[in-house]
Amino acid sequence: MTSTSTDFKETLKQQADIVRIVGDYVKLKKAGAQNFSGLCPFHAEKTASFSVHATRQFFHCFGCGESGDVFTFIQKVENITFPEAVRLIAQKLGVPLPKLSFSSPAEARDAQVRTALLDVHVRATQFFQDCLRRPEGANAREYLKGRGLDDETIARFRIGFAPDSGFVLRDALRRDFDEELLRASGLFSWKESSQLSALSSQEKPVLRSAQDDNSGEGVTESRELRAESSAAIYSKFRNRVMFPICNDQGKVIAFTGRTLSTDEKAGPKYLNSPETAIYSKSRVLFNLDNAKEAIRKLDYSILVEGQMDCISVYAAGFHNVIASSGTAFTEPQAKLLGRFSKNVVVNFDPDTAGARATERTLGLLVEEEFNVKIITLDPGFDPDLYLRRKGKDAYGSAIKHSQKYFDYLIDRARVQFPPRNAESKIKAVNHLLPHIQRVPNRIVRDGLALEIAQKLGIDSKVLRQELKNVVTNRSATAVKTGAETQITGAERVLIRALASATEIQASSTRSSARDGTDEELDPARQAQYALQSEYLYEGLASQSLIEALLEAGSEAPDVMALPKNEEDRRLLASVLMHEEEDLTPETVEGAVRALRRIYLRRRQEEVQRAFQRPGISMEEKRELLQENLRLKRALMDPGLAEAAGQAS
Ligand SMILES: [Zn+2]
Repeated sequence: MTSTSTDFKETLKQQADIVRIVGDYVKLKKAGAQNFSGLCPFHAEKTASFSVHATRQFFHCFGCGESGDVFTFIQKVENITFPEAVRLIAQKLGVPLPKLSFSSPAEARDAQVRTALLDVHVRATQFFQDCLRRPEGANAREYLKGRGLDDETIARFRIGFAPDSGFVLRDALRRDFDEELLRASGLFSWKESSQLSALSSQEKPVLRSAQDDNSGEGVTESRELRAESSAAIYSKFRNRVMFPICNDQGKVIAFTGRTLSTDEKAGPKYLNSPETAIYSKSRVLFNLDNAKEAIRKLDYSILVEGQMDCISVYAAGFHNVIASSGTAFTEPQAKLLGRFSKNVVVNFDPDTAGARATERTLGLLVEEEFNVKIITLDPGFDPDLYLRRKGKDAYGSAIKHSQKYFDYLIDRARVQFPPRNAESKIKAVNHLLPHIQRVPNRIVRDGLALEIAQKLGIDSKVLRQELKNVVTNRSATAVKTGAETQITGAERVLIRALASATEIQASSTRSSARDGTDEELDPARQAQYALQSEYLYEGLASQSLIEALLEAGSEAPDVMALPKNEEDRRLLASVLMHEEEDLTPETVEGAVRALRRIYLRRRQEEVQRAFQRPGISMEEKRELLQENLRLKRALMDPGLAEAAGQAS
């Protein structure tokens, strides 16, 4: 860690009031002694489940589980990296930046590599564009013309051509970039050293094995190879039309290459860059850089499957179009898209070969609370073909007549299971249920249940009620809220006490001035001692959270970073958001007594159960009776009885 940047981050965090910073993005209302709440910017909601803790300086959404400090918030809401978030917050506060805001030399080096990789891609893009204009690019130009793309579109999407030779690009880039970087760029392949001698005599590498080799994971082993021969690396993309893939800032970070060879050895029809330090395919949406403004303005996006479809739709004047690049949508992609609009018109046919990927994509969009509509084109038409045959007006009208996703599903279920009798109605309902249970909002689900009942002509009261029950009680929601409702007041007090360890450390001067800090009165230590020595939290709903807090002791600077899973983070946030009264040694002591009581009662139940086990020996019975008596006496202890009213 470079101390300057860490210090700067800490100073900045102290100066930045999270309530004010978040307030720029979310309308916050005071909701308690130290917390504020508002509508979550990370998921769609109508009632506020997004909370900000003013003194502890963290946010937590009880709806979607997003959580973190002021830096995390800015990173997520702006979709930027950590150093960028630091810079942005510094700007908001008018604090001058230190020269480097990387938290470690490794991070600085990574950033350097990423910048250099972006440069490699700028140069490669130019190279491919040049090649497209040269005589050797004739076939590629022909192909693009055949797809109906004009010069303007080709220029806008920076489409190019990768020549057949595997060495031209390498030689062009080698002057400015070292080979290790080229290997890390995802643009090149290479042979293992045993194959080098065979390769050096050949002008061109063998095409067949070039497509499926090691260029992704080989990066780390590259050092020895580099020393032996630089002839080993060659272009991964050969004789292909090159479509750049950009991040949402418009920087080229990868390519898709469409082969022009008819030869079966040419490899896959479409070849994509592997994942690199700048390209993670699950986080990129094709054309989002061009489309984002239009998506924001029109408040909906058009989602198509392939890049070619996307380019055609864009060229026809529908600028709010993006593509998922053939694979199923991922959660980061949905979140990324959701930043611009939560309305999406999906234009791929759920009945095609990729039906399962399509269904996953649609399911994910529903889970992320998008309003999904479906465009149905005439059978056999993809958007590209449809536009070329029928024109943009027809496509515009298809968008206008797109159908709500659930209407579309109900229609399909009715075709598949014609609702002639009760039995086929139930079949249709069961077919629809998994789709509907993805909807996070209960009220929306209730509405859907009603709609299904109407559209499938279900008059039976019993069946209607059944449908409503199944739809309303999503098992996932029941699990999610579990720990929170199960924990006792005593556990809440002790969790607060344990969490206060970090608070006390951070403001030690203040607390010692207040009451002379007698070590005996530190509620964190008091709770730690009692919980650890008696293991009272065993088997409680809060066990894993308490363990995580105990493990950290008073070392942790950020208490919200301690929970080991979502559930526990949610629980901790909920406890901390509701800390109203002060923690005193008496409340902590009362909570410990309440846990002892819970522990004794549970032990008593165990003893009684053991007593009734068949085949139990007389001696065991005697021991159990004795323990039962001990437990009874312990429970009658006046010290324990008094605690019951206080904290459980
Ligand atoms: Zn949320």
